[in-house]
Amino acid sequence: MPRKKFVAGNWKMYTNLAQARELASGVAQGAQHSTVNVAIFPPFTWLLPVAEVLQGSSVSLGAQDCAPEKEGAFTGQVSPLMLLDAGCQYTLVGHSERRHGLNESDDLLNRKAKSALTAGLKVIFCIGELLNERDTNQTESVLLQQLSTGLVGLTVEEMTRVCIAYEPVWAIGTGRVATDQQAQEAHAFVRKVLRGMFGEAVAMETTILYGGSVKPENAGGLLAQPDVDGALVGGASLKVESFLAIVQSAATHRAD
Ligand code: PEP
Repeated sequence: MPRKKFVAGNWKMYTNLAQARELASGVAQGAQHSTVNVAIFPPFTWLLPVAEVLQGSSVSLGAQDCAPEKEGAFTGQVSPLMLLDAGCQYTLVGHSERRHGLNESDDLLNRKAKSALTAGLKVIFCIGELLNERDTNQTESVLLQQLSTGLVGLTVEEMTRVCIAYEPVWAIGTGRVATDQQAQEAHAFVRKVLRGMFGEAVAMETTILYGGSVKPENAGGLLAQPDVDGALVGGASLKVESFLAIVQSAATHRAD
């Protein structure tokens, strides 16, 4: 079966409550009849009110992170079971702002992915190389390391609930986007690694998103690449019009 296009909006640590409600409502209305899977990832504090806004809509809700444990004395952490209870279907794991900003290791991210999947969530597992790693031809070895450690021990069933987001760190929030060809090459490599780890079916069925300064102006070229199944959008997901324009672009380039 062809992979359905997927566009996800990471709101990071932006929006107040009123803005979160308004943004979610605009996305829900605009994406109503879309052929694309759409999800939004507000800050933790707005998950419950946004879940209310999204009720009855086709837009899914996700969190930006989750704890590697289901409960316990972990001050400040949020359990994947709590996320489910709050109405989330998804969580991000391993966003570069956590890998590099907060030093989250491949091993910790593997535990987070397992804890989210065990709870019943779907995971967008983020990977990507730093600029100096790309410049020194280490992109593939970095992606291989992040995937082989980050996804180790996951079952084929669990992999049906995992999407990969390839986000070159040098393109996130910088306005500098990967070329269509750079994105395609990296995505094809990710699919090859998945094939080696989990077999042909998982490799062909896994959704691989591109992230890094995706805007309405550059989305079309990226989304037309055969191994680019959608986008993880940061800055441009904070405005209804720009996010919906990217969703529309994905619909135009859908594979189904
Ligand atoms: C992101 O937050 O995952 C992201 C890709 O951000 P931006 O689109 O702003 O580069």
